[in-house]
Amino acid sequence: MPTINRQISFTKDQLATIKEKASQPGFSHTQWGDDDLLDTRRIIREHYRNEQRLKCAYCMNPIASISANGANIEHIIPKSKKIEFIFEPKNLCVICPDCNEVKRSQEVTGDEPNPLKRNAIQYPRTSGAFKIVHPHFDNYSEHIIHANRIYIDITPKGHWTIGACKLNRFYHRFGVCEELVEDVALIEEEEAFHKFHEQPI
Ligand SMILES: [Zn+2]
Repeated sequence: MPTINRQISFTKDQLATIKEKASQPGFSHTQWGDDDLLDTRRIIREHYRNEQRLKCAYCMNPIASISANGANIEHIIPKSKKIEFIFEPKNLCVICPDCNEVKRSQEVTGDEPNPLKRNAIQYPRTSGAFKIVHPHFDNYSEHIIHANRIYIDITPKGHWTIGACKLNRFYHRFGVCEELVEDVALIEEEEAFHKFHEQPI
């Protein structure tokens, strides 16, 4: 099952606010944080917090249940690249402050990886259109093994996501240390467990 099964559906009033904002001349992604979108952001954040059961869409670590800064709204196709998808329900999710910091610094330097395989006019409706493990379309555990601090790719999508979101940050900071070795042992135990249970009787 994907991480998100139900996209946000905006009310008539919320859609009117969105439409008005998006139709302002010169509307750009830098206006996402404007005060008149405060309520819209709150509604989106709360919806995906619940839908994702307080887990970050990229690293699966816990996100804050109350603090707005601890649960950042993410545009899966970056809003700086595709302004037309800035309010697209399937393009939205919530992520943790660390993943957000990675994405934010990429936006500042203009180095955001583009998760789309090819350019899209309409928002794609299938997993295959994306290089990223998409929380609305993909089952995370089919693409990435995540045990404590380690992330291992199972598929090209998993590989792309681990790289784009710099998920192995613990390893990059501390290298191979005791905690990491313990995590590897945990993964090996899990794999052995699954193999054992997958064997035909
Ligand atoms: Zn995260």
